[in-house]
Amino acid sequence: MKRGRPTIFSSTYYWYSYITGDFKNKKNLEEKIISSLKKEIPTTIAVIMERSCYFQCRHCLFQKEGSSKEISQKNNLGKIIDNFLGQLSSKAKDFYPEKPCFVYCGRVLKEWHFEVIKNIRKKYPKIEIGLIDNGSYLKFKDIFSRDKIKLDFLDISLDGLKEKHNQQRDPIYQKSFDLALEGLKYARQITRGRISVLMTITSINYTDIEKVAKLIFTKNLADEFHITTMTPTAKNSDIEISTKKLAKVWQQIKKISKKYNTKNKHKIFFKLYRYQDLNKLKTIIGEEKIKKILTKNNITFDQGSIGFNLENIQINYFPFSLWPQESILIDADGANRVAFSQKFTLKQLCHDKNKKKYTIAKLRENENYQQVYLREVEWWWKNFGKNFLGEEKIAFERIGK
Ligand code: SF4
Repeated sequence: MKRGRPTIFSSTYYWYSYITGDFKNKKNLEEKIISSLKKEIPTTIAVIMERSCYFQCRHCLFQKEGSSKEISQKNNLGKIIDNFLGQLSSKAKDFYPEKPCFVYCGRVLKEWHFEVIKNIRKKYPKIEIGLIDNGSYLKFKDIFSRDKIKLDFLDISLDGLKEKHNQQRDPIYQKSFDLALEGLKYARQITRGRISVLMTITSINYTDIEKVAKLIFTKNLADEFHITTMTPTAKNSDIEISTKKLAKVWQQIKKISKKYNTKNKHKIFFKLYRYQDLNKLKTIIGEEKIKKILTKNNITFDQGSIGFNLENIQINYFPFSLWPQESILIDADGANRVAFSQKFTLKQLCHDKNKKKYTIAKLRENENYQQVYLREVEWWWKNFGKNFLGEEKIAFERIGK
């Protein structure tokens, strides 16, 4: 996660005011949310460079599908990226939070992607490059070393120690854990900045949090540990975590936050995307505590999220209504899409009329970055965001009771 500077009168501030009623001027708050969001132009483009994957993790949003290489090349994905990064490179200071960034967010690295990465390094040296990976980047270790490619940050998913990780991510071949661990061990060779471990909590792996923290920090395999809960879909709702299990998660995060966070450096981050999880937290820590913490003085207003510290745990909550939060999302076929579009295959997204609202537009090679962002904000708000805001309002009224 890239952390934006805390702001007052940002979309998150107005969102909070709307949700809690904690604002003197209650008029036009919806318009204020949306007009602030439009000004918070993110400096990150997040690209799904490949739609296939070697695994089929239980919690994954994506479905099984073939390689998207051909369709990416047919639609000039590389040039679409180049166009945006060129604009970001020259205008980043006008945007938010200033540091331009290309995040490779899935699903696996392929050889032809190095043309894109090398082009970025050569033409836009100030652009940061980050990779979210499962360890399969190791297949291209030689290319990294031959072409002297260094990433600015690398996020590797580790969903438990061997047994739980493989149960969640690779129950048939049981190779995923070893790959992720090898990926972590080699990570500093290809990264000049932060290395993070990402863990998605489910009913399979919820007991392994402390063990993962111990593994990565005692061996200096990572600098940060980001923990989040799973977003349930039709195919994985059976492994959603219960309140009882979340209570065990909470105890473990408390322990590792105490052990590994220092005054100057936070290493443990707990990210929540669903108000349902905040509701569960209320049951775990008590109504009074959560009410107190969710008051204005205890909250930071970050880009796309509110931050707060609860029992020494640093939490960021990202309301769905405020998407796109930190980045513009580009899919493998060069389309600008919304959150959750990953749960459909490219074929479904392109041909199924009922899935139309998940595609904002097919991008051309000369799009104006700022215009694309404004269209993205409006599209999300109209099709999804406004409804989410209504749900969030009701949920927070219940949490505050
Ligand atoms: S979670 Fe990552 S590694 Fe697992 S199937 Fe999805 S994209 Fe592949």
